[in-house]
Amino acid sequence: MNQQIISAVVSEVLAKIKQENLGGSVAAPAVVSRPSKRMGVFDTAEAAAQAARKGQEQLRKKGIATRVEIINLVKSICTEKAEEWGKLEFAETKIGRLDHKIAKLTGIKDIPGIEWLNPYSLSGDNGIMMEEYAPFGVIAAITPVTHSVPTISGNIVSMVAAGNGVVFNAHPGGAGCAADAIAFFNQAIYNKTGIENLVTIIEKPSLDSFNDLCKSSYVDLMCVTGGPAVVNAAMQSGKRAICAGPGNPPVVVDETADLDHAARSIILGGGFDNNLLCIGEKQVFVVDSVHSQFMDAFKRAGAHFLPRENMKKLAGEIFTYKEDGGGCSHPVLNRDYVGADATKLAQVAGTSAPAGTEVLFGDCPGDCPFVEEEQMMPVIPVVRAKNVDEAIELAYQSEHGYRHSAIMHSKNLDNLTKMGQKMDCTLFVKNGASIAGLGMGGHGYANFSIATTTGEGIVTTQTFTRKRRCVMVDSLNIIR
Ligand code: NAD
Repeated sequence: MNQQIISAVVSEVLAKIKQENLGGSVAAPAVVSRPSKRMGVFDTAEAAAQAARKGQEQLRKKGIATRVEIINLVKSICTEKAEEWGKLEFAETKIGRLDHKIAKLTGIKDIPGIEWLNPYSLSGDNGIMMEEYAPFGVIAAITPVTHSVPTISGNIVSMVAAGNGVVFNAHPGGAGCAADAIAFFNQAIYNKTGIENLVTIIEKPSLDSFNDLCKSSYVDLMCVTGGPAVVNAAMQSGKRAICAGPGNPPVVVDETADLDHAARSIILGGGFDNNLLCIGEKQVFVVDSVHSQFMDAFKRAGAHFLPRENMKKLAGEIFTYKEDGGGCSHPVLNRDYVGADATKLAQVAGTSAPAGTEVLFGDCPGDCPFVEEEQMMPVIPVVRAKNVDEAIELAYQSEHGYRHSAIMHSKNLDNLTKMGQKMDCTLFVKNGASIAGLGMGGHGYANFSIATTTGEGIVTTQTFTRKRRCVMVDSLNIIR
């Protein structure tokens, strides 16, 4: 036997021992489907969920310092790969803006980690008590096409910091870039910690793979980020679901607002990634006394005005109408225009807008489809209201009770308070752009899943934990 053969045999044996140490002692059933060639990428939901369970068991043994290592790694990868992955996602999904896709990935570094797991404790005459935040196990995360890799990355930071493994079912429209990111994360996590398949993904996601995850015994919790259909499906799955659902954020501008600042803020938030963000400004209600000044301010700030006939033509292309059971028709969004550039939409409207235009706007009645529907494109209907009370009421109606996000521009504390109380939303931004609600220009931490429907709010590490209490009776209370 020559030296080369001996080395090959030794390497193989060492690799086998390492493999057994990593996964061998995990009490999990045999693999039901072959693993994909790329680490973490699987053909079936069951194989992906089972692998994530094994990954999570490995993480559990390694401890909390390893969680910190992993989330720091994921954050630094997102910063390093922001441009490359932004381009990849933009090329695949063909929606939104490249510069903002890159910005979303560089923002992952600001998502909170284990610092959100500070235990709560008491000490007194009867001893001591501590409540700690334990992982659920494996979380099945369903992600949207509007921010595929950013949602996955943000979910990984929060869920792994909490000690969980994750199996992803991405939107089919953004599944390629999602699988590439998962493979890269896994390889890096493996290289650094020896843990395999901590975060996994189904290569070709479908409604069937979603249903399989809902049924899988390896999945302990669902986390859904998406529109109404997937939220309903997850809530009926029989598993606990954290649901970051749809929004249709209104803006109210009253007579005390700084109109130029309001206009610039609406362009910043409503134009971000061509209005793909669920928190983005979707419709504006302006009180009558400052309506024409606001329209001028919006133009000065760079928004492009579309006359009524162009707004009507655009609506005809963007929405189709279906008859409801009761005989009323309701608008259905043509998804081909979601996240399109303002200049392209101006052409669809039968006109043109200067290159670089970020937002189109029009003077609209309160019941137009741009107001009613979450259109996810940089077209902002501006509605005239008699006074602030009517503006707030119209804003409330247009939000459809999602309790997601709302924005107000005003210097009147009573009006701001009235709107905040009426909307009762997860995010209420005053005198700034909607994105200030996610820490971009305002205080607060960021994340891409805002659990509106189920009420957990902007998700943090703590969202993905189980609270557990440990009590010592009549002892260890050293404060006498
Ligand atoms: P979408 O609802 O079409 O898809 C979201 C995910 O759900 C995808 O993975 C998709 O494959 C899956 N899905 C869709 N219908 C399903 C069904 N019936 N059963 C099982 N799975 C299903 O949404 P989208 O277009 O990708 O994203 C935009 C929507 O998501 C908007 O409504 C937006 O407001 C919402 N959103 C919310 C948040 C938040 O944090 N609250 C964040 C991003 C997006």
